[in-house]
Amino acid sequence: MIKFLDLYQINQTYKKDLVQTFERVLDSGWYIMGAELKEFEEKFANYCNTKHCIGVANGLDALILIIRAYKELHIFKDGDEILVPSNTYIASILAISANNLIPVLVEPNLETYNLDPENIEKLITGKTVAILPVHLYGQLCEMDAIMEIAKKFNLKVIEDCAQSHGAISYSGKKAGNFGDAAGFSFYPGKNLGALGDGGAITTSDDKLAETIRALLNYGSHIKYENRYKGINSRLDELQAAFLSVKLAKLDEETEYKRKIAERYLKEITNEKIILPSTTERDAHVWHLFVIRTANRADLQNYLSKNDIQTVIHYPIPPHKQDAYKEWNTLNFPISEIIHAQVLSLPISPVLSDDDVTTIINKINLYGV
Ligand SMILES: *Cc1c(COP(=O)(O)O)cnc(C)c1O
Repeated sequence: MIKFLDLYQINQTYKKDLVQTFERVLDSGWYIMGAELKEFEEKFANYCNTKHCIGVANGLDALILIIRAYKELHIFKDGDEILVPSNTYIASILAISANNLIPVLVEPNLETYNLDPENIEKLITGKTVAILPVHLYGQLCEMDAIMEIAKKFNLKVIEDCAQSHGAISYSGKKAGNFGDAAGFSFYPGKNLGALGDGGAITTSDDKLAETIRALLNYGSHIKYENRYKGINSRLDELQAAFLSVKLAKLDEETEYKRKIAERYLKEITNEKIILPSTTERDAHVWHLFVIRTANRADLQNYLSKNDIQTVIHYPIPPHKQDAYKEWNTLNFPISEIIHAQVLSLPISPVLSDDDVTTIINKINLYGV
């Protein structure tokens, strides 16, 4: 069986360093908000080329806290609208709802699966305060165009970078450094994955960073003094330390995945398969390699019978979820096509060349 994502194997490659790191943290006797977190935050801010990185408990909290901080700073208020892609993972949308703001769904581009700048302007109203682009599957959105619209209408830009650690544009800018602030997830299966939950916010805005640091720690800047009704959302020492170990190899792992993606793009020739489209090589970090096909269930079943595990990201669009009943009757045709047809192939730093060959051969034999 070729696994979709072999997390066991991925983390085995780091075993020696991770075990050593565990011992160091264990023996330090300090487990929350200490030197390991500070070191990782500095490394990751440096990696993204932002002034600040703030570790938090998970990717959803990262997005929630950014929006919450803008509310505390009186830049956003209840009922304001944020534009977000209609085909994203639901967390991007939940972060808006959780703050009593209104998510306004924007149809993606069917080629890139990312927010279509063409569809943004017509949805901007007097209540719009921000755009929340998601660099879906690991590919940067068209950030030049998005930033231009944001500037024109004086909107904040909050990037959802949960799938795009290290994606870099022709201009040399990295994911997390285009907008005003960005949320990252270090969920184990993400490009940079912890051994549990984790997340971070990057920003170069001092005031925003200071507000978020208080909000994630019970709303407190100074111990036992609380300025806001905050929450507890901290990245613990152990996960921060593990992430420092894995960050050192992130670019190497991404490069390995780019080579797999290049093989898929070149060698999958079956006409029943629609391959993902990319603009710039380095702007995609291939969190997922997502193909489309008319009869997805049939293809997935065929691959499964041939011992190849695939996953659907994602089977149900957000507007068809029970959680958003109020949207169930709305139509987002592009998003619906995507959700009905996408299938993610295995791609990972431990997928062997032989496995890639097997996957390509089986797909090329499908339906012929
Ligand atoms: C994973 C993910 C999140 C949420 O991250 P968690 O760490 O699981 O909370 C948010 N947005 C997108 C696009 C994601 O893929």
